[in-house]
Amino acid sequence: MKIWLDGKLVDESEAKVSVFDHGLLYGDGVFEGIRFYNGRIFRLEEHIRRLFDSAKAILLNLPWTQAEVCKFTCETVAANGLTDGYIRLVITRGAGELGLNPYLCPKPSMFIIASTIKLYPDETYQNGLAIITCATRRPAPGALMPQVKSLNYLNNIMAKVEAIQANALEAVMLNEQGYVAECTGDNLFLLKNGTLLTPFISDGALDGITRAVILEIAENLGVPFKECSLTRYDIFTSDECFLTGTAAEVIPVVALDRRVIGTGKPGPFTARFLEAFHQLTMSTGTPFALASE
Ligand code: PMP
Repeated sequence: MKIWLDGKLVDESEAKVSVFDHGLLYGDGVFEGIRFYNGRIFRLEEHIRRLFDSAKAILLNLPWTQAEVCKFTCETVAANGLTDGYIRLVITRGAGELGLNPYLCPKPSMFIIASTIKLYPDETYQNGLAIITCATRRPAPGALMPQVKSLNYLNNIMAKVEAIQANALEAVMLNEQGYVAECTGDNLFLLKNGTLLTPFISDGALDGITRAVILEIAENLGVPFKECSLTRYDIFTSDECFLTGTAAEVIPVVALDRRVIGTGKPGPFTARFLEAFHQLTMSTGTPFALASE
């Protein structure tokens, strides 16, 4: 496997970062998870824009343009001979002296991995997930800005551990006020009386690229949608529920905390969103083969 690391494609065995890198020492950095389908990178520009916004929000000055990072990403995928898979793009604060001060790191470090990912077993896409609410809360936006896709994932990891310990594959995370924020690695959607509902970003959700695609699809399908504050009650009493994420794609949820949602089977709206999503992934995106020629 070839990894893009600070300007060069290197062999996996040579892709190493310093133990003084503040990304490793303090989680000081930002990242993206991006999928490619059928020889094309899905929503590449949107992911890179979010990456740059995350970097800007944490005063991480990048020496590359967005177009350059798109090109490096395409080159990495092309160099690995895959047509379908998952990209992990990480920018760290870089190596510097010990201590939190980010100004001690003269130069950010970037690496890009093009590989594959499988988040949930195939049958869960047909049958739906039974998920739980976890005790671990999403930090308030004043503590950790939910839009920043930073290397601080301990909050989500602790929530994921709760899900695993409860024999579930995903967990709903609430914010400090008790409103639904999102899941550990996915955004959440409900259908209630024909309207699509999803939590506000300000309730503690990542501004998901797949979330935006779903809102676009809702517009195209003529399904009314609304961002609002949601509680567990809204999930328990919804007609349908599904989760979205780059790695997860679109996955139905059929139970929360042992309350069956709707009929207990993935519903018709979810099926329409799933199909429209797959159509988009297969028919749109940035071709990456050209970048290597
Ligand atoms: N929420 C969190 C906490 C995430 O880490 C992710 C990405 N895995 C998502 C939501 C989904 O975002 P996207 O659709 O941009 O992948």
